[in-house]
Amino acid sequence: MKLKAYETLNDLLLLQWNDETDNALPLKSMRDNCPCANCAGETDVFGNIYKGPAQIMNEKSYLVSGIQPVGYYAIRPFWEDGHSDGIFSFEYLQKLCDTFDN
Ligand SMILES: [Zn+2]
Repeated sequence: MKLKAYETLNDLLLLQWNDETDNALPLKSMRDNCPCANCAGETDVFGNIYKGPAQIMNEKSYLVSGIQPVGYYAIRPFWEDGHSDGIFSFEYLQKLCDTFDN
């Protein structure tokens, strides 16, 4: 599945897929599930997870100042608190939509 279009609306990211379905994903759910190594951690061959220090979230942590496409497979949100390491693949976005879109 490919992402055809996206835009932010208040605290939601509106996603339109190439099969003409769409989703409204709360930005908070994206930030809380940021897939970057610092937020989600990296797993070594033994299954141990290494994470960066916990981030202190504020209201800016859940707002985006911009979103950049990454190739044809992902988007990268720039959060207003300065965090921008998370690359959200279309596949991962769909998993989040399955969980958080109501
Ligand atoms: Zn992150």
